[in-house]
Amino acid sequence: MSPRIEDIRARQILDSRGNPTIEVLVKLENGSIGRFSVPSGASKGEKEALELRDGGKRLRGKGVLRAVRNVNEIIRPALVGMDAASQLGIDSTMIELDGTSNKSRLGANSILGVSIAVAKAASRSFGLPLYRYIGGVSARTLPVPFMNVINGGVHAGNELAIQEFMIVPARFPRFRDALLAGVEVYMELRDILMGKYGRSAVNVGDEGGFAPPMSKTHEALDALVEAIERTGYSGRVLLALDCAANEFYSNGSYRIDGSQLSPSDLMEFYEELIDRYPIISIEDPFMDDDWESLSEFTRRVGGRIQVVGDDYFATNPSILRIGIERGAANALLLKVNQIGTLSEAIEAARMAFHSGYSVMVSHRSGETTDSFIADLSVALNSGQIKTGAPARGERVAKYNRLLEIEEELGPTALFPGLPRVA
Ligand code: PGA
Ligand code: ZN
Repeated sequence: MSPRIEDIRARQILDSRGNPTIEVLVKLENGSIGRFSVPSGASKGEKEALELRDGGKRLRGKGVLRAVRNVNEIIRPALVGMDAASQLGIDSTMIELDGTSNKSRLGANSILGVSIAVAKAASRSFGLPLYRYIGGVSARTLPVPFMNVINGGVHAGNELAIQEFMIVPARFPRFRDALLAGVEVYMELRDILMGKYGRSAVNVGDEGGFAPPMSKTHEALDALVEAIERTGYSGRVLLALDCAANEFYSNGSYRIDGSQLSPSDLMEFYEELIDRYPIISIEDPFMDDDWESLSEFTRRVGGRIQVVGDDYFATNPSILRIGIERGAANALLLKVNQIGTLSEAIEAARMAFHSGYSVMVSHRSGETTDSFIADLSVALNSGQIKTGAPARGERVAKYNRLLEIEEELGPTALFPGLPRVA
């Protein structure tokens, strides 16, 4: 029997930065319940679907009571009685109800909260783990964790231009071995930073990575290489960057490491980093309107490393299509709240795979303890996830859920590592 939606309720809760966000609870007629709380970014591109906030003075305008009302008063009456297993039908009903191209009437946060809470309720009602409900019988790949252990950019109170310095434990037999190797490197890094920069260096940023008082890119990379060498994981734990270049771009140039660089200087700067350090993935290397530089960069280094589009594509299938046509990047960063429904996010992933792009499922810098993206990464067999340092509850909730999934899958679990990395 197909489970029908009996009730939908939203409320305002807090995310990991203390900002209000929306939590949605969906109840089906057979009593199954699904609950989802919506994450929120700090380095948001212009292309993301609209996150509806109340505005005004209170809470610096960040309240989400309007979004809550939209769920309770507009979305709820439209969806009650619908088949909860019809994810596409539910998502397209909400898209129609909203009627805008960027979900600005109802808010992508309202719509996404419902979209995923419905999927969770349906999986419960079928008695299936979420990754299997979404991904079917083939869902069995545990992702390589991209662990953001040094935070910069708008995620930290230091001078590092690049937002995320990640360690990538790629060459291990199982997910749990990879995760624990990452934890060892994180612990070692703590000692190194404390020794070199003093106690304040091990304060953490928004994603649980350290936020040391560094100002130069190479300082961060040198500390990571040292931590990897000291733990004996050279060649098995690699490095990745999310530049989030929008945040250090203005008027045609990029302010990084005390210099103003043109797009072509910046490209050379990255190429030198790739030659010098074991970097295997670079995300958003240029500001997200500069398709030309991204395509050129992909032509030059795409055979050696992964080039990831986050702000560039905003998990939007129509924008991704443009990128694919231009040969821009070779991987998609997948953030469900950038687009606002589960169906559209899955469509973006499918389009990426069909065009030979990799897919990395991602958290936001503002998170909750919801572990949905762990299941999503396994459901899509994406093989990659980035969900912060192995620290702070909202980050480890995802890693811990992946440990649970790996155990549940037993010998059928796969951990292939990163195929693109030679
Ligand atoms: P955000 O950062 O969640 O603050 O946008 C994450 C990212 O840029 O990947
Ligand atoms: Zn990013």
